[in-house]
Amino acid sequence: MPEFWILIKDIPAGGKEFSFDEPAIWENPIAEFSLPYAIRRPLTAQVFLLAQQDGVLVRGRITGQIAVPCDRCAEDAVIDIDHQFDSFELLPGDDTEDTGDDETIIGPAPDGAGAGMEMGRLLWEEFIVSLPAKPLCASGCKGLCPVCGKNLNDGKCGCDTEQYDPRLAALRGLKVTKH
Ligand SMILES: [Zn+2]
Ligand SMILES: [Zn+2]
Repeated sequence: MPEFWILIKDIPAGGKEFSFDEPAIWENPIAEFSLPYAIRRPLTAQVFLLAQQDGVLVRGRITGQIAVPCDRCAEDAVIDIDHQFDSFELLPGDDTEDTGDDETIIGPAPDGAGAGMEMGRLLWEEFIVSLPAKPLCASGCKGLCPVCGKNLNDGKCGCDTEQYDPRLAALRGLKVTKH
């Protein structure tokens, strides 16, 4: 994953808005994790950062468009990304209390430049949580025939799918196991 550091000392007292349009922020993790995501319209982010005594207030927005496989038929589901987020990133405490190894966004920047924020990871995490759990190509997607695999959005296949309805199969299974 590429790193995009912003040094805490580079955030002016009144806060500052930063823009991120480097494709690598998104393209590299997509490739690294072999995710079936295709960027349709470039993903960009605007993030306002305001340094506080114990951390950094973050207010951001990610926009763009991607295509992912439909949860039912695996054809392209096009997703408009317009994700707004607020967070507060804590400065790492100087106590050595074990808090369960939470990965913090703020840490020492490379080359001893001082404390910084790894914006690449922050933006990637926000992007991931913005995605729908079950993306659909269309709200009425009919999915694939469980018998022959035909995409039922292209028309019926003639299979007797009732027998293979997984919900009915589960019910039948329940009845059997009760005996
Ligand atoms: Zn679909
Ligand atoms: Zn079929």
